[in-house]
Amino acid sequence: MIELQGVSKTYRRPAGEEVTALVDVSLHIGRGEFVAIIGESGSGKSTLMNIIGLLDVPTQGRYRLDGVDVTAFHANDQATTRNRKIGFVFQAFHLLPRTTALENVELPLLYSNRRSITGLARKALETVNLADRIHHRPSGLSGGQQQRVAIARALVNEPDLLLADEPTGNLDRRSAMEIISTFQALNHDGRTIVLVTHDQEIARYTSRIVKLERGQIVADANVKESKIALAQEAL
Ligand code: ADP
Ligand code: MG
Repeated sequence: MIELQGVSKTYRRPAGEEVTALVDVSLHIGRGEFVAIIGESGSGKSTLMNIIGLLDVPTQGRYRLDGVDVTAFHANDQATTRNRKIGFVFQAFHLLPRTTALENVELPLLYSNRRSITGLARKALETVNLADRIHHRPSGLSGGQQQRVAIARALVNEPDLLLADEPTGNLDRRSAMEIISTFQALNHDGRTIVLVTHDQEIARYTSRIVKLERGQIVADANVKESKIALAQEAL
């Protein structure tokens, strides 16, 4: 599904000096995988995720998504592909405050020509176990519940790929486990998930751990199915 070949990324700071965020990264991720990208702060995790998510472009190297070379896509084509194939979850939930869970999840569909927007949003909220909270506003929900609304919003377009950048970074342990449990269930149903985290403990719940150090992949290991921790058991 995701094929990065020799990808490097250099930023230029306003003062002019260059910062190399990724160095010659080659990474293949297949459909149905649940991958953790780990590494210390500044190791290049978000840069890698932004490139995979077509929010940024490599300075060097190639990116093929579903067999299509998207490296040189213009912003319009990037956006179209992104909206069709990719759902995003971030550390901050980015929910509209005066709007219910249901309306927040409907948002990505408002400009689509999909029918039964409300039905699709309800279904996405059921998927993250929030069927009984759809008329609540963010202020009436716990942090874990707000993040699950954000996950439902990311899922409502039925993307093939879910990208999450530090999704548990603002959450207590128990809420973090709710989120990881939700991801495990989604992955079990076939969704491809790439999860960025600086937390080694969280990575134990995924099936493959890719480690970045100063912009380079220094480890990439599959986790045996019998060794994958179950978030449900930690709840
Ligand atoms: P991580 O997510 O692992 O903390 P990032 O991918 O955010 O790492 O950053 C990797 C490196 O690239 C860091 O040194 C960071 O300061 C730098 N960097 C990231 N984004 C930019 C940017 N837009 N402009 C300049 N430097 C950046
Ligand atoms: Mg980051």
